[in-house]
This record gives sequence, structure tokens and C-alpha cells, in this order.
Amino acid sequence: MHTAEHVLNQTMVRMFGRGRAFSSHIERKKSKCDYRFGRELTEAEAAELERRVNEVLRSDLPVTAELVPMDKAKAELDLRRLPPEAAGGGLRVVRVGDYDACPCIGEHVASTGSIGFFRIVSSSFAAGVLRVRFRLEPPAA
Ligand SMILES: [Zn+2]
Repeated sequence: MHTAEHVLNQTMVRMFGRGRAFSSHIERKKSKCDYRFGRELTEAEAAELERRVNEVLRSDLPVTAELVPMDKAKAELDLRRLPPEAAGGGLRVVRVGDYDACPCIGEHVASTGSIGFFRIVSSSFAAGVLRVRFRLEPPAA
């Protein structure tokens, strides 16, 4: 679920040029991510979002974590939302193949092929916030 969230966030960034989720609630059965957005997603956009995320999952990209020196991380990543206390020393950067890189201390699957099928349950928009609810279906045997 959590690794799927990385892929979803990067796909949102690529499709709409806005930020990653500013808040998320990840659970085993169903998760949700909140984005600063101007409107509801259209049905076509939701379908395209789902299609793109699943394309990445099917590609079975390796998920790796490495400690990157802060100056290098600054050059490569958008660190605006990083808490200031993280500014010293290195930064743990999690990569999903060459699709996504983002600072994260969480746990991840070894490759996206084991995540399964990504399904958007619903999305809604209120007060400038787009909420995307999703679940995962087990990978086909
Ligand atoms: Zn993570």
C-alpha cells in the first residue's frame, strides 16, 4: 500500500504538475491521499490515473532506499516540505526504478510487481482538497 502511494503521488505530479499528497491515510484494505487541487477529477482522468499507476506496477520496477548527502538531495529533489530538523546529515531517499524518488523513512516492497492491481475506489473534492481513495487487488498468479 505504502509503495503504491509513492507511485500514485509521482503519477499525480506527472499528470497535473501539482504537488504530492500533503496528507495520506494508508491502511491495508483501503487508503486515501489528499492533494491540493482546484477541482474534482473527471472520470477520464481517474481512469488515466489508474491506468498509469498500473503500468508502473506491472513494469516491476525495483524499489531501493539509499542515504543521499543533503546537498546532492537538494539538487535532485523537491525538499520544500521536509521538516527543518532533517536538514543535517544525509537523507534517506526511496526510489521506484527511475520513475520516482522521494525522501521517506517508511518500509517498502522490493519491487512494484508484488503490489498487485491498483484500483481507485472513489475521489471527491471539497475546500480545495482532492481526496483519492484506492485499494489494491492481489497480483495475478
Ligand atoms: Zn515510503
